[in-house]
Amino acid sequence: MLIECKPISKEIIERAKRKAKGKKLWLHNIVVGGDEASLVYARSNLKLLRKAGFEGKIHHLENAKEKELLYLIESLNEDENVHGIMVNFPLPKEIDALKVREKISPIKDVDGINPLNYGRLLLGEERLVPNTPRAIVEILKRITTLRGKDILIINRTPVVGKPLSLMLLKRDATPTVAHSKTRNLKYKTRRADIIIVAVGKPGFLTENMIKDDSIVIDVGINVVEGKIVGDADFESIVKKAYITPVPGGVGTVTNACLIENLVKAAELQGFI
Ligand code: NAP
Repeated sequence: MLIECKPISKEIIERAKRKAKGKKLWLHNIVVGGDEASLVYARSNLKLLRKAGFEGKIHHLENAKEKELLYLIESLNEDENVHGIMVNFPLPKEIDALKVREKISPIKDVDGINPLNYGRLLLGEERLVPNTPRAIVEILKRITTLRGKDILIINRTPVVGKPLSLMLLKRDATPTVAHSKTRNLKYKTRRADIIIVAVGKPGFLTENMIKDDSIVIDVGINVVEGKIVGDADFESIVKKAYITPVPGGVGTVTNACLIENLVKAAELQGFI
């Protein structure tokens, strides 16, 4: 069974627009280095942002040094016409990613990557949280109850698995976090009510790894022969369980959550 995500994305954007009360909000998106995927992602975000009535700017720093990047973030922090700052990862390895996270003002941090915002999440306060796990929660809460559910997350990164596990705990679910060193993964997937797969390997989760009527949230984005596919074997799983599509699934809702975080950030700055 297919989990329709586009209506969820629309609903979140509409909610964000209502909260913005017609104010023009600006998101500044920084792409460092020549990572084509980051640029494509930043451009698609900008398109959606403008469609929703907001504004954005992409700063493409092709050969930037750490100092230059930190200086740009500092100037955006101080500019009252900038309401949200996003830095695309991965960064070139010469740049200290922690310094970059720490530099983004916690109230302009629309991707929830500043350690202060991570710390708040750990304490159960969801102010500006990372968009992908929030998108997953937005999808799940519309199709099921989370209380008491056994949820297997196959990913332990700060982008998806770690923040998601905290958000699910807050909602009384029982998350298990799996990764590349996890043993007996199939045993665990077959027992889970809900599986979140974010491994980055096409065809990783197969129909024989899941139980009937479970819920599969496919976060993976892979390009196979020019087509975008997820991590799950969609064609076989959709006959047995509930599953989100790729494309048009988690990614679409993640983009909507980014817009809503921009509005939240503007509220925190007292602009709305
Ligand atoms: P990543 O840094 O490569 O992390 C992959 C995770 O999968 C790691 O925790 C890794 O374990 C685990 N893993 C790898 N092989 C495994 C195996 N054989 N068994 C169990 N676990 C395994 O990637 P990421 O940045 O977190 O992203 C993951 C995927 O999600 C990618 O396809 C990415 O494009 C996609 N993504 C989508 C969105 C969206 O909004 N739709 C957002 C972000 C990312 P270790 O920690 O042990 O290495």
